[in-house]
Amino acid sequence: MPPLSDRTRLISSATRRGKGRRPVNPPLERASTMLSDSLGSMLDPTSGPIYGLDGLSAASALKAALADLEGADHAFLAPSGLAAVTIPLLALLRPGDEVVASDAIYGPSRRFITRYLGARGVTSRFHPADASTETIVGMLSSRTRVLLMESPASLTFEMADAPALAHACRDRGVISILDNTWAAGLAFRALEHGVDVSLQALTKYASGHSDVLMGSIVTRDPTIANALADVIEDMGWHVSPDDAWLALRGLRTLPLRYAEQARSALTVAEWLQQRPEVTTVLYPPLPGSPSHAVWRRDFTGAASLMGVVLKEDAAFAERLLDALTLFGLGYSWGGFESLATFESPQLAFRQHPPMLQGALIRLHIGLEDPADLIADIEQALARAAD
Ligand SMILES: *Cc1c(COP(=O)(O)O)cnc(C)c1O
Repeated sequence: MPPLSDRTRLISSATRRGKGRRPVNPPLERASTMLSDSLGSMLDPTSGPIYGLDGLSAASALKAALADLEGADHAFLAPSGLAAVTIPLLALLRPGDEVVASDAIYGPSRRFITRYLGARGVTSRFHPADASTETIVGMLSSRTRVLLMESPASLTFEMADAPALAHACRDRGVISILDNTWAAGLAFRALEHGVDVSLQALTKYASGHSDVLMGSIVTRDPTIANALADVIEDMGWHVSPDDAWLALRGLRTLPLRYAEQARSALTVAEWLQQRPEVTTVLYPPLPGSPSHAVWRRDFTGAASLMGVVLKEDAAFAERLLDALTLFGLGYSWGGFESLATFESPQLAFRQHPPMLQGALIRLHIGLEDPADLIADIEQALARAAD
C-alpha cells in the first residue's frame, strides 16, 4: 500500500485493531492518583503512567497522533501555545548563550526572550522580518545557541527559507526551532526539512473550535527530547485530560477544516486585493506576494489568516471593524469562526517596523460561506467610508 495521506493517518489511529471491544475514542480518564495491583506492578516502569502528571490515555493518544503527523520520534504537550515556545528555549539556553529570532515573531515569544531570558543572562538579536538567508546566517555567532523561526511571521506574514536556515544552523552547531502554528504541523514538514524542533499552538487549527489552550513540541533528536522532558518535569507542567481529549477530537478533522478555510481565505484575499480601499493583502498564497515562491516550494497548504493593509488610517479601520457583522472581534485564530483584529499598534514593538501605507487589520477566515463573508466586508467598507 502507498503511504497514507494525512487525512487518513489522523483517523486511522482511532480504528486500529487488536484492543478488544472499545469505544472509538480513548476514555476520558481524570486522575491525580493511579492505583496499582501490587507493589511489584507499582514499581514496574513498564506498567504505564504512575501519576496524573505523566499524562493519561487522551494525552498519550494525542502525543502519538502529533508525532505521526509531523514525522517525529518525540512529542510533548504544553499548557498553551506560548508554553510550547518557552519550554524549548528554557531547555536549550543557558546564561551567556544568544538566541537569534525574527523581528516579527509572535509578540509574547519576543517578550519571553527579552524580559525573562534577558534577565537571566541570555542575549538576543532580532533580524528584520524580510532579511535574506545570508543576512540571518551572518548574525549567527559563536554564542548563538538557538535560531527561533516563525514562518510566515506574525501579522506581516514574511517567510523565511526555513530549510536553508535549518541546514546552516546544523553546520554551525545552532539548534533550529520553528513556531509552525500557521502550518498547523500539516502544511510544512518542518522536521523533514531539517528543523530540529517544531512547535505549534494546538489552540489554533488542531483544536479548531476556540475552546482549548494547548501547545505541542516535536523533535527527532533524543538529546533535545531529554532536555524538553526535564523542563516539563522540573516545572511541573501539565495538560488537562479534558483538553487533550478535545484537541485529539479536533485533530481528526484538521486537514479538512484547514484546506476548506484556506480555499475560502484565498477567495476573500483575491477579492480584497481588487478593492480600492486596500493597499495590499499580506497572504503568501496570493501570486505576487513577496513570499509566494517560498510558500509554493515548501508548503502544501495555507492557514486562513491574512493581514490587510488599508489605504486609510486607524479611524477608518475602526469604523470598518465595528461595521462587520459576521467577523467576531477577538484574538487567536484557527477556529471555525471568522475573526478580525486591528494590528497597527503591535508593529510599534518592532526594531524594524515595516513601511506600511495605512492601517493594518488581520482577518481570520472561518468555515462560513466565503460569499457571505465578502458581502459582509463589502457593506462594512461602504459604511466605513461614510
Ligand atoms: C497563538 C500563537 C501562539 C500562542 O498560543 P496560545 O495557545 O495562545 O498561548 C504561539 N505562536 C503563534 C505563532 C501563535 O499564533
